[in-house]
Amino acid sequence: MAQIEHPAVTNFRNYIRIKTVQPNPDYASCTKFLEGQAKELGADCQVVECVPGKPIVLMTVVGQDPDLPSLLLNSHTDVVPVFPEHWKYDPFSAHKDEKGDIYGRGTQDMKCVGIQYLEALKYLKKEGHKFLRTIHLSFMPDEEIGGIDGMAEFIETDIFKKLKVGFALDEGYANPTEKYTVFYGERTVLWVYVKCPGQPGHGSQFLPNTAGEKLQRVINSFLNFRSQQKQLLKEDKDLNLGDVTSVNLTMLQGGVQFNVVPSELCVGFDVRVTPTIGENKFEDMIKSWCKEAGDDVTYEFKHIAPGSHSESKDEYPNLTCVEDGKNPWWDAFSQACKDEGIKLVKQIFPAATDCRFLRKVNIPALGFSPMNKTPILLHHHNEFLNEKIFMRGVEIYTTIIPTLANLKI
Ligand code: ZN
Repeated sequence: MAQIEHPAVTNFRNYIRIKTVQPNPDYASCTKFLEGQAKELGADCQVVECVPGKPIVLMTVVGQDPDLPSLLLNSHTDVVPVFPEHWKYDPFSAHKDEKGDIYGRGTQDMKCVGIQYLEALKYLKKEGHKFLRTIHLSFMPDEEIGGIDGMAEFIETDIFKKLKVGFALDEGYANPTEKYTVFYGERTVLWVYVKCPGQPGHGSQFLPNTAGEKLQRVINSFLNFRSQQKQLLKEDKDLNLGDVTSVNLTMLQGGVQFNVVPSELCVGFDVRVTPTIGENKFEDMIKSWCKEAGDDVTYEFKHIAPGSHSESKDEYPNLTCVEDGKNPWWDAFSQACKDEGIKLVKQIFPAATDCRFLRKVNIPALGFSPMNKTPILLHHHNEFLNEKIFMRGVEIYTTIIPTLANLKI
C-alpha cells in the first residue's frame, strides 16, 4: 500500500512541475507559487524586478533585533534545458519511483534547497521558534545564464543594501558518499584572446618574426601550464577540480591561403582560475607569456560577466574563511553540522554560481546543498533526488538556520 507522502515532498514535487526552464522560464507561475509559500510561512513577501520579466521573490522573517546583520538564504528558480528523449520520465512530471527517487529538472539544482529552506522555517515557526536576526529568502531568476539580470543587478539596488546581509547560504552540489560538501569559493571564468602579429610574405621563405612562431610560443605557454595543473590534480588526492586552474584552447583564427604567411594569427582560451592563484596573478602570467612570445603580442579578455573579474588586489578576494575560530559564521555553520552529526568536505566550486556576486561585495557565503549518498547529476539527464535525502536536508536546515540566525556577535 502506498504510504502517505509528507507535505514537504509534495510541495517539492509541485515546484519541480513549474517549467522554469531556460531559455523561456515560466517565471509568472513560479512567482505565484512562491507567493503562496510565503503566505503559508507567514513571511513578508515582495517581488522585485530589476529587469522586467525577471522577478526576484524576496521573503522576510523579521528577527527580534532587526538592526543586526541578517541571514540570507538564497536559491535560484530557473533550471537548465532538457533533452526529454534521454530521460526515463518526463523531466517536469516529478515522477517518484518505488525507491522514492524523484526525477525532474531542478531536483538537485536547486529547487530542493529552495523548498528545504521554506519547510525548515515552517516547521520552526510551528514549534514556536523566534530568531534573533532577520532572515531573508531570495529566489533568483537567471542564475543558469550567468545571473546578469538577476543577482548581478540585485546587489546594486537599495533594496538589497537595506537587507544588511551579514552572511549567506547558497547552492552546492551532491556528494555520492556519506559526507556532505560545502563550498567556500569558486573559480573565475576568464576568456582570453591573444593576437600574434607578424611579418607577412611568401610561403616559400624563412621570414623573421612570423605570427606562426609567436602563436606556437603562446600556445606552448598556456598548454604547458595546463599540463602542470592537470598533473597536480592527478597526483594530489586531496585536490579537487576547483583547486586547480583549467585551461582549454577553444578558438583559433587567421590565415588567408596556403602560400601566404599571414600578418596575424589569433588564439582563444577558456580559463577557470582557482582563487588561490587569483585573476591578478594569472593575468601577470599571461603578460609574461605574451612578452616571451615576441614583439607586439597582445591579449584581451572577452565577455567577462560583471563581477567575475576582480579589480580588487586582495590576496584571495573570492574566498569565505572556513578556518575554525576565525570566522564566527563559519564556526556557527560547522557547529550546527556537528550537532546534526554530519561530516563536511570543504571545496572550491569548479564553476560559477550567484555566490560570486555576494562575495564580491564582501558578504561571506557558503554553497551548501544537503545531499549525501546521491550521484552528482546537476545539468545531467535523469536528475533525481531521493525523498528521504530531501527530508533529511529539511531536518539539517532546522538546525543550521536557527544556529546562524541566533548567532551573537
Ligand atoms: Zn544551480
